[in-house]
Amino acid sequence: MTVYQEINAPLRTIMTPGPVEVDPRVLRVMSTPILGQFDPAFTEMMNETMEMLREIFQTKNKWAFPIDGTSRSGIEAVLSSVIEPGDKVLIPIFGRFGHLLTEIAERNGAEIHTMHCEWGKVFHQREIIHEMKRVKPKVLAIVHGETSTGCMQPLDQIGSACRELDVLCIVDAVATIGGTEVKVDEWKLDAVIGGTQKCLSVPSGMAPITYNDRIEKILFSRKKVERGIATAEDHESIGQPIRSNYFDLSQLQDYWGPRRLNHHTEATSMLYALREGVRIVLQEGLAVRFQRHMLHEKALVEGIKAMGLELFNDTEWKLPMVTCVQIPAGVDGESVRKILLEQFGIEIASSFGPLHGRIWRIGTMGYSCRKENVLFVLSALEGVLIRHGAQLNLGKGLQAALDVYESAHIMTK
Ligand SMILES: *Cc1c(COP(=O)(O)O)cnc(C)c1O
Repeated sequence: MTVYQEINAPLRTIMTPGPVEVDPRVLRVMSTPILGQFDPAFTEMMNETMEMLREIFQTKNKWAFPIDGTSRSGIEAVLSSVIEPGDKVLIPIFGRFGHLLTEIAERNGAEIHTMHCEWGKVFHQREIIHEMKRVKPKVLAIVHGETSTGCMQPLDQIGSACRELDVLCIVDAVATIGGTEVKVDEWKLDAVIGGTQKCLSVPSGMAPITYNDRIEKILFSRKKVERGIATAEDHESIGQPIRSNYFDLSQLQDYWGPRRLNHHTEATSMLYALREGVRIVLQEGLAVRFQRHMLHEKALVEGIKAMGLELFNDTEWKLPMVTCVQIPAGVDGESVRKILLEQFGIEIASSFGPLHGRIWRIGTMGYSCRKENVLFVLSALEGVLIRHGAQLNLGKGLQAALDVYESAHIMTK
């Protein structure tokens, strides 16, 4: 008979675009005792989490709460609650996660219209606005930070154009929330989905979302409370009921709101983790946190270039928390990743689709976004590349990164 040992996970330096290292304070709260989901001590924590999420999304929206499930559960909750079969949905695709939006919208019966650009590029906002005028969709669904290509789509003009054209603007900000500006109200975004295991440095398993009253109006028209718990005040829905029960935002918001409708059992330990994660973000301060992400990005980028490697996303639309490095000719990218993990305990990522085997992706997100991690990954990468016969400017990478830290006055000579 096998006797299984307790888990003894190795300590890693995780420099991928998620999941990333979890702040030790978050890990600690996850061992807090369980509370019942309607215990006032717990519902108070739910309310506080909503308040803090509003600050992180930079919104005054009434609704900002997590969906239980990984980030795509947040995307699925928003899309399946908003899209009715036959609705036109426009999706500009510039990487893998645009395809995911399409996949989910398609399964909800949408009439899909896509736009494509080469992986590694983003769209001009005017191209998207032009296409919206032509297609006249009900929904525009778009990714903000495309982790598969390391590119960030500017959104500041798209939201107001959506308002004028009466299109709902739904944004996947899974990778960007907590790491760079996501100005929900200022950019006039109608629904935004964030992620936990990226820049918030919380384990995966929840997806914070926010949406405004334009979305809520649709939810209200489609609302259908479960038969076992409906009361006389629950009217028959006028629109088509939302097909998913688990992801039905009209019922979920009644669980997060004062009615405390009994829907699923809240994921207690994950809620503790998220509450602590967002508390830490606000304690650091959004502006300081975004600066920190930019500083370590700069140190990493300067180090990579000084070493003699080339970036794939060295553009003005580079995603600040994901640095994509071209794998040098003749080097086996997977072998490099394997040795980094086995010998150094460092994890970096490969990529998908047309970029698989062409680039490595190095994340600098949340708690993983630290000086010692950046210096460690640069020195380990150099060491491993030398053993793979790559021609490098030896010793230059680490020094370039140290120069960045020195000029930012966070290192003395
Ligand atoms: C990571 C990621 C997702 C998917 O997240 P899961 O938590 O794995 O479901 C979606 N969109 C973007 C842009 C991401 O980076």
